[in-house]
Amino acid sequence: MKDRFIGPQKKSIMMPRRIPDSTGLSTRGGIITERDPDFCIVRLRIPAGMIKPEQISAIGKIARKYGVEDLHLTTRQTIELPHVDPSRLDGLLADLRKNGTPLGAEREEVVNVTACLGTRHCKFGNIDSIGLARELDKRFLGRELPVKVRIAISACPNGCTSERLNEIGITGTRKPIRDPGLCTGCGTCTFYCKEKAIEVVDGIIVLHKDRCMECGFCIMPCPFHIIQGEDPTYKITLGGHRGRHPRIGRHLITVNSEEDVIRVVERIITWIHRQASSGSLLPEQLDELEFDAFRKDMHAMIFGEVS
Ligand code: SF4
Ligand code: SF4
Ligand code: SF4
Repeated sequence: MKDRFIGPQKKSIMMPRRIPDSTGLSTRGGIITERDPDFCIVRLRIPAGMIKPEQISAIGKIARKYGVEDLHLTTRQTIELPHVDPSRLDGLLADLRKNGTPLGAEREEVVNVTACLGTRHCKFGNIDSIGLARELDKRFLGRELPVKVRIAISACPNGCTSERLNEIGITGTRKPIRDPGLCTGCGTCTFYCKEKAIEVVDGIIVLHKDRCMECGFCIMPCPFHIIQGEDPTYKITLGGHRGRHPRIGRHLITVNSEEDVIRVVERIITWIHRQASSGSLLPEQLDELEFDAFRKDMHAMIFGEVS
């Protein structure tokens, strides 16, 4: 078997040697140079990591047809086909497109949108993270920018997608509302609060607002159904990052609907496109880009006021 070790040299960040320039493929995100620069990795577009059984089975067959031995499941919920012969890319990409799994993104652009199962399948979900991820993918994936922008959505503060460690993070939250007059003081809800934000004092519950994360976990278990939830909200953070120097995104705004999430994301992307510079990560530029002023603009756009 051919030894694939090439060494950590500059070649490894160049495009594969055999992609003909005339195809335009060398400029596309989703085609990544492999350690062996004679081959490439093909990353697929799978919003929210949701894929039909027949679609994934067809990907396996297509991979075999083009000599791919293993599929790689990425941390960002996509599938990569490693060790692809660049001279066969045209046929491979056409077959993948027919299967409904086109090329993904990975350069200075909006890369794939990740999401947890949310209200479709998870008992803790406050928002439809999968539906929202698909909508954001449809509108923004591959939008060229000076910096890479990853979007991740978690439907509750458990943060299964580590959304706050992404350039744009969206967390589904839900504020509990109680009627203390009806509370029996049974204490059931206190067992569901991981933040110790609820206490029973003299037979009545007391909510410590400063500790409440608005996860909504205490809403369902009340045996007397006296805890109601407000409508779900979408908490949006900006400038998070994993990588070498992880950073938690800063809170930008909390909105009440998917439509408002889309408006905010559209505005963020336009702002990045116009004002960010290439060569450094978005979190490193936030102060220079006047994050606080941008935050005020967002509040004015959504709520009609500066907060
Ligand atoms: S983030 Fe919350 S809603 Fe999403 S999968 Fe995790 S626990 Fe469930
Ligand atoms: S919403 Fe979550 S953090 Fe707040 S009181 Fe209920 S369980 Fe605790
Ligand atoms: S579970 Fe319901 S009745 Fe029991 S303490 Fe909590 S709010 Fe009161």
